[in-house]
Amino acid sequence: MERPLPGSGRPEDTPLVRQTYRQLTHFTALLAILVSLCHAILLYILDNPLWLLCLAFVGLCTIVLWALDEKRPFAIFVTGLMVLLGIFLTSVSILALSLGRAAGFEILFVPMFPLVVVTGRIGVWSKILIILVLGAFVIGLQEYTGSYRAVVDLEENSLMAMRAINFGSVILAVSGIVGRYFQIVTQQQADLQAFAMVDQLTGLYNRHSMNEIASREIVRAKRYESPLSILICDLDRFKAINDQHGHEAGDTALIHAARLLKTSVRESEVVCRWGGEEFVLLLANTNANGAEALAERIRARFENSPLEFAGKQIPLTLTLGSASLQPADAFSDLVSRADQAMYKGKLAGRNRVSSA
Ligand code: GH3
Ligand code: MG
Ligand code: MG
Repeated sequence: MERPLPGSGRPEDTPLVRQTYRQLTHFTALLAILVSLCHAILLYILDNPLWLLCLAFVGLCTIVLWALDEKRPFAIFVTGLMVLLGIFLTSVSILALSLGRAAGFEILFVPMFPLVVVTGRIGVWSKILIILVLGAFVIGLQEYTGSYRAVVDLEENSLMAMRAINFGSVILAVSGIVGRYFQIVTQQQADLQAFAMVDQLTGLYNRHSMNEIASREIVRAKRYESPLSILICDLDRFKAINDQHGHEAGDTALIHAARLLKTSVRESEVVCRWGGEEFVLLLANTNANGAEALAERIRARFENSPLEFAGKQIPLTLTLGSASLQPADAFSDLVSRADQAMYKGKLAGRNRVSSA
C-alpha cells in the first residue's frame, strides 16, 4: 500500500483512511448482497418475477466483491466500486418504481451518503456535488414513487416485510460505518496519548509524564504522610561510548540501561528517561534508607552487567543521587536535591551512590 511520507500526505488521505474505506465498502457491499438475497427470497415466495432481478444483483455483486478486497490494486477497487454503484442504483430504482413508495426502497440509498463523505480521495467540493446530485435523485425518486400506483401490487403485509428489511439494513449499515469510525478515532486518540507519554528509544516514560505522575504522587504522599523518594541516575562517561563505539552503541547502551533499571524495581514503580543519559526513578512508600539500598543494588547490577555490542563487552556504570520528600517539597525541589547529590558522586569519582 502507498505510504505518504509523514507530513507530506493529506491528513484525510492516509493509509489508514484508505484501508478503512475499503473495509467499509466491502462491509456495505456484503450487507447489500444479504439484503438483496432476502428480497429475492421474499419476492419468490410472493411469486413475483422481480426475484430474478434481486438474484442477478446478488450474483453481480458477489463478483464485484472480489474487486473490493483490500489487496486489489487501487484501479481495480475503483472500477469495482463504480460498477457496484451502477448496478445498485439501477436495481434499487427498478424495485422502487415497481413496488412503490410503501416498500421503502429509497431508504437503501441513505448509506451511500456517509460513504461519499468518508472517502479521502476526492475533495470537499466534489463530495458536495455528488451529495447534491445523489440527494436530488433520491428525493425525486421518492416523490415520483409516491405520486403513482406501483406497477406491482403487493399486500400490506408483504410491503411491511419489505420495508422492515430495507430499514433494518440501513440501520445496520449506518451503525456499522459510524461505529467503525468511532472505534478508529478513539483507538487513535489512545495510541497518540500513549505515544506522547513515552520515550521512543527506551520505551520508558518521558520527562513530561514523570512530571505529571510525580506531582500526583507527591500530593498523595503528603496527604497520607507516607514516605517518597527519587533516584537520579546518570550514566558515567557516556560521551566516550558514543565517541569510541559509535552512536548506535550509545543508543543500545541506553536501551540496555533502561531494561536494567526497569527490572530492578517493582512493576508499580515509575522509571523515566529524564534526558540524554539521565534517568529518574520515583519510589513511592520508600524512605531515604530504602532508596539508598535500592540505589546501591542498581549500581552493583550495572557494574556486573556490561553492555554487549558488536561482539564486545563495554563496561557501563552509573552515578546515582537520591533525595526524599520533605513537607514543603515540590517535585522540582526533590529533583534538584537528588541532582546535587548525584553531582557530588560524579566529583568523587563516579560509579557511586550519594544522598541529599
Ligand atoms: P559524566 O560521567 O560526567 O556524566 O559524562 P558523560 O559523558 O556521561 O556526560 P556528558 O553530559 O558529557 O555527555 C552525555 C552524552 O550523552 C552526550 C550525548 O551525545 C549523549 N547522548 C544523549 N542522548 C543520547 C542518545 O539518545 N543517544 C546517544 N547515542 N547518545 C546520547
Ligand atoms: Mg548527564
Ligand atoms: Mg553522564
